[in-house]
Amino acid sequence: MGLWLKNVRPVCFHESGNRSGVAISDGGTIRESPLPDDEVLDADGLFLSPGWTDLHVHIWHGGTDFSVPPDRAGLKSGVTALADAGSAGEATLHGLRKYIIERRPETIRAFINIGSIGLVACNRVPELFDSRFIDVERTLAAIDANRDILCGVKVRASGEVVGDWGISPVRIAKRVAESAGLPLMVHIGNRPPDLEEIFALLSPGDIVTHCYNGTAGGAVTRSSAVFEHACRLAGTGVLMDVGHGSASFDFGVAAKSIAGGLVPFSISTDLHVRNVDGPVHDLATTVSKLHAAGLGFSDCVNAISTNPRRFLGLSGANGLTPGMRADFTLFALVARQKQVADSGGNSLVLRKFFEPRFAIIGNRCVRVEPSRSGRAGSQR
Ligand SMILES: [Zn+2]
Repeated sequence: MGLWLKNVRPVCFHESGNRSGVAISDGGTIRESPLPDDEVLDADGLFLSPGWTDLHVHIWHGGTDFSVPPDRAGLKSGVTALADAGSAGEATLHGLRKYIIERRPETIRAFINIGSIGLVACNRVPELFDSRFIDVERTLAAIDANRDILCGVKVRASGEVVGDWGISPVRIAKRVAESAGLPLMVHIGNRPPDLEEIFALLSPGDIVTHCYNGTAGGAVTRSSAVFEHACRLAGTGVLMDVGHGSASFDFGVAAKSIAGGLVPFSISTDLHVRNVDGPVHDLATTVSKLHAAGLGFSDCVNAISTNPRRFLGLSGANGLTPGMRADFTLFALVARQKQVADSGGNSLVLRKFFEPRFAIIGNRCVRVEPSRSGRAGSQR
């Protein structure tokens, strides 16, 4: 059966004009107009955006000790597309593919960790202790065998991970990414390596995740020279990703950066078991925090939909074109006070909250429970 979404307010699409309805065929693609026997969903003025997309999550549940089950991060939270950011390395990617990616209704892509073991026992068994932990040949072979699900190479470049090995694993990861023709996602945080050393290796299309971390050595606001360097990089097309996480998002750094013109390309959660019950919770809470930190409504929506979707090669601003596969999130921006915290335990009262109500993939519509976003939902 087809689906007629009526009374919607499209945002972040090209050419949405004044349309207030979207017709979806029983095959799940956009139609010009509804048919008499279509099922009707009256959205009562909800915003309709390209499907929410979380570019940094950990959902290799069972293959790592810290990933959440994928349904904690996906459709039931209003999220239709996800990228697992380096939970798997070359030794474990096949499991992420077979047991998670191929079984889920969401669109899932992965950044392959440059460390062969990925994040099996995250931060207990570091994946980048020394050169024995990277196998370039096997990583390139795994990339070639899994190009359809891979969106980049991930390297965690902070002191807890690389220790004395410093900048070397970032150099290797960049070489592997270049030779595979993929972008590099680099996690920043405490030294070593130094931010300036990392920035010097990046090129347009690469991603800096944890861009608003508040660590002493890793904050982009650490000095005006570092901040200007980050702004220059963003100006050339290096992509700034939030990756909230449990140690990587600071309200003060975010507000100062946004006010200074360093806005995020993508807002992502870095969701895992150590932050899903707070402070991160879900993508809706994360984007609401960025809105409170000064990022405008359209920039917020683009950063959780069109931008990461473009990075992953998915429909986005063109998503209302007849023939495209339907992929949307219906949401409200509600006036609601809620106390939240950043990764450093600093609290902030949000006054406006992004509240997803429905996720739509093809002609499948999943209801998000507003009060339990990320926890429960019911399916049509
Ligand atoms: Zn992460």
